[in-house]
Amino acid sequence: MEKIILIATSNAGKVREMEKAFEGLPVRLVPLSRLHEVLPEAGEIEEPVEDGATFMENARIKARYYREKTGLSALADDSGLSVEVLDGAPGVYSARYAGVHGDDAANNAKLIADIRARGTENAAAAYHCALVLALDDGHELSAEGTCAGFIRPEARGTEGFGYDPHFYRADGRAMAELSREEKHEVSHRGAALKEMKEQLRDLV
Ligand code: IMP
Repeated sequence: MEKIILIATSNAGKVREMEKAFEGLPVRLVPLSRLHEVLPEAGEIEEPVEDGATFMENARIKARYYREKTGLSALADDSGLSVEVLDGAPGVYSARYAGVHGDDAANNAKLIADIRARGTENAAAAYHCALVLALDDGHELSAEGTCAGFIRPEARGTEGFGYDPHFYRADGRAMAELSREEKHEVSHRGAALKEMKEQLRDLV
């Protein structure tokens, strides 16, 4: 029988990537936006407060929260960028680095300005992704992925989101120049999902 896993995100891009990553496994992934299909009595669920100090803590907070609210197995991710010369910032504040949640243009402008203020233009950086699957029987699985690169002031490419136009890999291409498939192959989220798939395969 298919195992139902609630995906603790409403981000359509992430949902697609997770569905693709778990293809072939006997699991049915249900995004939050379709929760009522498997739990008709469920009302609106408020978002949890993500106040963890690390990506893994935040992913765990979200996964446990939605399992508790629904009784279903819940998969949550948390991700972001860390820049060496900024002592790991923006880190868990990546989505709201400049103050407004999800304002990519402002976040990128602040990032480039902060790096310049440290007297450099090419800054070593890495994307990180933490995944936690809180299973309905109380067990938990977790996986992590990273993607190393550099932040540069020049913006290139139109794919992806967030810091992708300024995030360059060692081959000289910006993340925003990669197709969705290419990005999945090299990205932090792709790596974490592959690791999670292996653990899940042993379980279902
Ligand atoms: P969240 O995991 O959706 O909370 O993402 C946190 C933030 O990290 C996003 O809003 C982006 O600013 C940044 N981020 C995470 N993953 C990526 C990525 O693959 N490309 C660009 N930015 C990312």
